[in-house]
Amino acid sequence: MNRDKVNVTLPSMPEFDEYIEEIKELWDSRWITNNGIKHARLEEELKNYLMVNGLALFSNGHLALEYAIAAFDLKGEVITTPFTFVSTTHAITRNGLKPVFCDINPDDFTIDTGRIEDLITENTSAIIPVHVYGNICDIEAIDKVAKKHGLKVICDAAHCFGVTVNGTGVGSFGDASIFSFHATKVFNTVEGGAVTSGDSGIIEKLNCMKNFGITGEETVYIGGNAKLNEFQAAMGILNLRRVESDITKREKLAGRYNKNLNGLKGIRLINYKPGVKNNYAYFPVLFDTNETTRDEVCDKLKENGIIARKYFYPLTSESECYRGMFDADNTPVAKYTAARILTLPLYPDLEIKDVDRICDIIISAVK
Ligand SMILES: *Cc1c(COP(=O)(O)O)cnc(C)c1O
Repeated sequence: MNRDKVNVTLPSMPEFDEYIEEIKELWDSRWITNNGIKHARLEEELKNYLMVNGLALFSNGHLALEYAIAAFDLKGEVITTPFTFVSTTHAITRNGLKPVFCDINPDDFTIDTGRIEDLITENTSAIIPVHVYGNICDIEAIDKVAKKHGLKVICDAAHCFGVTVNGTGVGSFGDASIFSFHATKVFNTVEGGAVTSGDSGIIEKLNCMKNFGITGEETVYIGGNAKLNEFQAAMGILNLRRVESDITKREKLAGRYNKNLNGLKGIRLINYKPGVKNNYAYFPVLFDTNETTRDEVCDKLKENGIIARKYFYPLTSESECYRGMFDADNTPVAKYTAARILTLPLYPDLEIKDVDRICDIIISAVK
């Protein structure tokens, strides 16, 4: 691996021999998918770690969200934000629902709850907020509006593996939450994901739907195939053992970024809410100046072999496949943010000297 190059992220992996040892049993049992022993173990361990009552594993985070939306039989319109990964918007649209975009807060980039109620119509069936970069939405305000109008709340918690708020696991908020275990996330099963919910009926339904809707000899739902296999589960079991130490390493690196960049003119760092135990999944920097600074910094880093990511950019509502359907001027804070945000490299094996090098390039570029 070329060590001079710094990518935006590098997946955590167990030792090679450790993985071989873990999957040995699969050669004996020949049970390699459909609720095998690794799947069952990972499910239990994740419920503990995430502090949730119910959890259904999925082949990836996107399908977890698509199926969660389907399981609640939603109709009509869903209030969400365009400052997210396209997956959120696609999952809504692919369920035949209409995304209605709400603007975000300028300080933490999550949904501006003060604007939700104005967007509710007689067709609204749910709110799908996104916890952005490990920052939690104002879930109390969302719950309050949802209860008042009889709406479901499904949180996209793909960025929030292991995040807790005053000791409560983030996956226990709303009617359901989804997590991503993609290679680029804080915890990975290569590809993978989960839906968490306190509603055991929903978890049971999801476990059935992800296996073609089959239960026993009957097919009760128009399901699909979105199962997590034993090899992915084995990867998860091992990666879960290192996730706390990974987060500690991330915290140290994020602290260094903070120390180097905090207070610099033209740069805004994310504010985290009190009581939140963060997972340091990302280190976003907002270039609070003219629109060209972010792109210049990104190019400058690239010239030095450092890959930062314009994330999230563009707004999902401005993606080519949605062109002409939405007006980004209706979500001005999201539009402003997407044009100025850059997430810097952050992963457990990143070195402090790389963080310093990255910061030096940024500092000289914004001067
Ligand atoms: C990663 C991600 C997803 C999709 O998860 P996959 O596991 O990659 O399918 C959905 N929403 C957000 C906000 C994400 O970051």
